Amino acid sequence: MDIEQIAEEFRKFRAEHFWEIPEGTSETTRRFHPPEDILDRLRERYTGDEVPRCRVLVDGQPCGAELSPQSMGGGNATKYAHSTPDGVRMGDWMEHYRDSQFIHAKPGDSEVVALLDLIDRIRKGS
Ligand SMILES: [Zn+2]
Repeated sequence: MDIEQIAEEFRKFRAEHFWEIPEGTSETTRRFHPPEDILDRLRERYTGDEVPRCRVLVDGQPCGAELSPQSMGGGNATKYAHSTPDGVRMGDWMEHYRDSQFIHAKPGDSEVVALLDLIDRIRKGS
């Protein structure tokens, strides 16, 4: 298959998977629809939520430390928390640890996003 055929196949693929939002749909309603283009839909589906920094308030300010994975696998969402710093007793850290917990419900798939980035670069010819 040469480059022209690949481009044509790709154009057909996108056309076949295009979900048109009816004309006259308001912007407000439009926001709740999945994107029309399959590449945008895939990007939306596979882009994960970011793991936030620690949000526990320390002297009225968010702690801001990086959270680390505490449990993962078994088909469950990965749980993150601000783990016990060096030199701090576990017992003294329990409240901070518990309050910092974050369940990563939408981790996405960075490999799919990397592939979509590649497709975008090819499409844009750079
Ligand atoms: Zn913290």
